[in-house]
Amino acid sequence: MFSRLRRRLTPPVNLLHGAQPAVLKHGQQPATTPVNRPGNYIMSIYRNLLIALMLVLATACGKSPSEPPGAPAAEATTDTAADAQTDAEMQSATAVKYTASCAAGIDRVGALFAELEGFQGEATVASVLDPYNTLQRELTNVAYPAQLYFLTHPDAGVRAAAAECEQKMDELNTRIGLSRPLYDAIAAVDVSTADDETRYFVSQTLRDYRINGVDKDEATRTRIRALNEEITKLGQQFDSNVPADVRSITVDDPARLAGLPQDWINAHPPGADGKITITTDYPDFIPFLRYADDNDLRKALYFEYQNRAYPKNQAVLESLMEKRYELARLTGFDNWADRATADKMTGSGAEAWSFVRGGLEASRSRAEADYQEYLARLRQIDPDADQVNPWQSSWIGNKIRLEKYQVDSAALRQYFEYTKVRDGIFGLTTDLFGLEIRPWATDEVWDPAVEAYEMYSDGELVGRFYLDMHPRQDKYKHAAMFQVETGEPAVTVPRAALVTNFPGGEEKGYLEQSQVETFLHEFGHLIHFLVSNNQRWTPLSTPEWDFIEAPSMMLQEWIYDTETLQSFATNDAGEVIPAALVEKMRAAQNFGQGLFINGQMFYASISLNYYNRDPASFDLLQLWEELATKYSVLPFVEGAHPYASFGHLNGYSAYYYTYMWSQVIAYDMFSRFEEEGLLNRDTARDYLQEVLARGGSRPTAVSVTEFLGRPYNFEAFQRRLDQGT
Ligand SMILES: [Zn+2]
Repeated sequence: MFSRLRRRLTPPVNLLHGAQPAVLKHGQQPATTPVNRPGNYIMSIYRNLLIALMLVLATACGKSPSEPPGAPAAEATTDTAADAQTDAEMQSATAVKYTASCAAGIDRVGALFAELEGFQGEATVASVLDPYNTLQRELTNVAYPAQLYFLTHPDAGVRAAAAECEQKMDELNTRIGLSRPLYDAIAAVDVSTADDETRYFVSQTLRDYRINGVDKDEATRTRIRALNEEITKLGQQFDSNVPADVRSITVDDPARLAGLPQDWINAHPPGADGKITITTDYPDFIPFLRYADDNDLRKALYFEYQNRAYPKNQAVLESLMEKRYELARLTGFDNWADRATADKMTGSGAEAWSFVRGGLEASRSRAEADYQEYLARLRQIDPDADQVNPWQSSWIGNKIRLEKYQVDSAALRQYFEYTKVRDGIFGLTTDLFGLEIRPWATDEVWDPAVEAYEMYSDGELVGRFYLDMHPRQDKYKHAAMFQVETGEPAVTVPRAALVTNFPGGEEKGYLEQSQVETFLHEFGHLIHFLVSNNQRWTPLSTPEWDFIEAPSMMLQEWIYDTETLQSFATNDAGEVIPAALVEKMRAAQNFGQGLFINGQMFYASISLNYYNRDPASFDLLQLWEELATKYSVLPFVEGAHPYASFGHLNGYSAYYYTYMWSQVIAYDMFSRFEEEGLLNRDTARDYLQEVLARGGSRPTAVSVTEFLGRPYNFEAFQRRLDQGT
């Protein structure tokens, strides 16, 4: 049970701002972790609960899974035996209390569900929709704290209870999502004279039930259940085969490690046979591809890396795709990509593919310019080089970056003391959106290090949040926004928590630039949640999944605004960050973007094209090669079988495009700020009202169109890419 939950909650490697940008950015398959990201069918079944979970996943997009440099070891304790005894009793009392509150919550949800399933009489908004809405709200309010506590609570007893609570909520939610009586009751409500939002709510709810096949006859539903189980098993098999297949190369002569950092070399002494072993695991693979000067060794390791889980996953992936195809057909779709996108902004596989093709076109010339720059630098080293190979791009890209764009991280860090950054982001939130942040005096924190705040708009309380920002033993190791409580109009405001592992806390700490960016990004999720999670219909609080990252990606842009940075970034001597340094940060950020985007869009093309047709109609390797030849700027490597370890083919399945989709819309929305001023309050107000606060109460395409005054397009994205050429 623990491992199941842990697997699900493992955050995806952030592909835009990965911990290993050199490798991720330049041509390799994205380094996937064994994320057991729920497939779309599950997402539809568990719509609300899993949207919550996935938001955690999504928001766990802090760039580097920041293993803090100064993570404290277990603290030495001077407690006496008697104190320890008291602590243990206290802890267990906390766990007992939490377990009881979860059990009560589950009982409440169970009772509401039973009542609705047995509903007789005239189905109306008041008799069916209102109780269904309450059911959904109660469900999230039990599930949200369970996720948070499982990953952050200092008391092991509470963490265990939270894991169990979450599993029970999962089971209950599955039953709700597959309940035919509930579907029939909601479908029977006549909403023809209801308001727009209520009609939209009903149409969305029924659509999700139909995606699950709840409206089908009993025989079909039995087959659907069996397929779901098989898909889950195959997906787990696919995911676990990748990390299980660790490959390696060996080196006889330590001189061949030239270029690698000394600490890495020290950590790789020769074994008893005199050979040095280098594996395909990330701590070896990523630095090796980035720093090792030996081209043949890089090539050999790359080849092993791209053959992980091959041939084992060949048959697994083929079966997984067949089952998904069958499930899609049974539930009324042409193929899996159509089913997986039915509840997204794209709405269909064809629309998603048209987006990806557009992205490939828009990024093409910039990607080729980057490629030429890499090739020219490579030729200075090897005059005979006729192309940049995938095992060379990270290495040569890193050389250029150091030569042309290096920003001294120590010089930057002095301006990013934690409390100044925090207060700076609070200040930006107030300046931009008129959202004022005040300390909140409450005892309801899970650890003494957690800070609590309230957010006000025009003097009115809109939400509450916690900051759990510094490392601690047994705490979640990444950065994420967690939902804590759903808001209910006129009753209660939403609550959320930011969890990160930044330096600071009891001692003064200084953030890296990437951490400041992570802070802004996660704070973007927080603002979005707090201002939107108070809809009349609770399930309409969250927008379509492929839009989730856009507000956060957009807020990150403010770190490159000199005026914003200079408003809070000062060093200990009180000097503000120099404008030239901000400019340098911007240039460094822009470097290599063409190849990065081309790589991301190429993987999105694989993910879609593997799933937008009958899997019996094509060969995995052949289609990969075809798409690579057509769309990837970096060449395909003969003998590689990258699909066998492309983990997102299970988790994301067809919708790997979502990060890029969010990015394109983020740039487009940001373009209005660029025109009207980054600190223009009217623009920000518009954005808050038309986009953020709407949540999922209407199609996001409508919200974005309202804000921009036109439908979104590729122009800002294209401009951004062209700036770098
Ligand atoms: Zn995010």
